[in-house]
Amino acid sequence: MSGAQLFRATLFHTTANAFRERDALRSEADGGLLVRDGRIVASGPFDHVRRADADATLVDWRGGIILPGLVDTHVHYPQLRIVGRLGRSLLDWLEQAALPEEARMADIAYATDTAVRFVAALAAHGTTTALVFGAHFAAATAALLDAAAATGLRIVSGLVLADRFVPAALRQAPGDAYRDSSELIRRFHRRGRLRYAVTPRFALSTSDAMLEMCQTLAAEHDDILVQSHINEDADEIRKVAEAFPWASDYLAVYDRFGLTGSRTVLAHNVHATAAELERLAASGTTIAHCPGSNAALGGGICPLRRHLDAGVRVALGTDVGGGTGFGMLKEGLQAYLMQRVAVDGVMLGPAQMLYLSTLAGAEALGLAREIGSLCAGKAADFVYVKPPAGSVLDAVLQRASGPEDMLAALFTLGGEESVQEVRVEGTVVHQR
Ligand SMILES: [Zn+2]
Repeated sequence: MSGAQLFRATLFHTTANAFRERDALRSEADGGLLVRDGRIVASGPFDHVRRADADATLVDWRGGIILPGLVDTHVHYPQLRIVGRLGRSLLDWLEQAALPEEARMADIAYATDTAVRFVAALAAHGTTTALVFGAHFAAATAALLDAAAATGLRIVSGLVLADRFVPAALRQAPGDAYRDSSELIRRFHRRGRLRYAVTPRFALSTSDAMLEMCQTLAAEHDDILVQSHINEDADEIRKVAEAFPWASDYLAVYDRFGLTGSRTVLAHNVHATAAELERLAASGTTIAHCPGSNAALGGGICPLRRHLDAGVRVALGTDVGGGTGFGMLKEGLQAYLMQRVAVDGVMLGPAQMLYLSTLAGAEALGLAREIGSLCAGKAADFVYVKPPAGSVLDAVLQRASGPEDMLAALFTLGGEESVQEVRVEGTVVHQR
């Protein structure tokens, strides 16, 4: 016995930026994925991969599809229970729905239960890696990272930081935030698959002193990430301009404190100026595009074409609970739909939707050498998708005229019920 496993199914993955490379999409109707010791040894046509290790144990998933593990680059764990609070704009939604629920994370039993449900929900939707907003409380943030370690998912997260605008219970003095953040970094950063991200909630909730503290943390740990929000909603942008009268635009607040760059992911950027796009591209900052949330909260339609033309890195996020659920396939569809009705929208093809949901996220998190595709040498993080017999997706896939049709159908109809098994480094993290 070679100790390897050979999975036989239809394969889809992107091996490059699908907005720049015409042939970024790889598909194999009868594909093989050879996995040994948690790594991908080979992928491609089944007969070809079979010859690479004739002794590998065969897992016959014919009729199903293997995708790389999905990567969600923007999601809030404390908001699990408030998905679907529709009918509000960002600032009202924060005040009435999100922040009261975030305050409940002071109760560690409630927070731990939420954390366990949260990581289970990610896995159940095929998400193997996520950049997650933790809680405003260190113990609740630790609960998420402990839950992630227990499941084996790749989670990047951090203590959410605020010292103004939010209710008093969610505020922390910068000195205390520094102490708690440093301790969380010591305990969790690079423990197994976990990584830490400095997480100022958004410019409006953070004073100059708090942003300086974030800058200090980022300087002290050169491999942690930074995440926040930007340009989500017109009222928010107006308030940020009032709070930082010296700033030429929203991005200037983060620029001033050294919080932009290749290890920073900022969510939304729906109302981006040309100057901001230019600076985002120059610094290598990634925008987490969250179209479901932008529609649900009425933030607007992200000018994706202007981002791409300017050379800004873009990945995809569900933004639960402003967003409408954990499905990254659904989020890819939502991106397609919003761009379809946008003035000067980008016509997203299935290759681009898959890229945004996988490799683009891996690139955003500095993990592209490890995950994001099914290429040999990467970690064996993958999703086995097979729609339930008799489902609409099942019927559509049987009639699909080619690989791109199949992939588009998957984004259109593929929900939690179609995710049969999810693996991280070859180990099962979810099974239906
Ligand atoms: Zn968010």
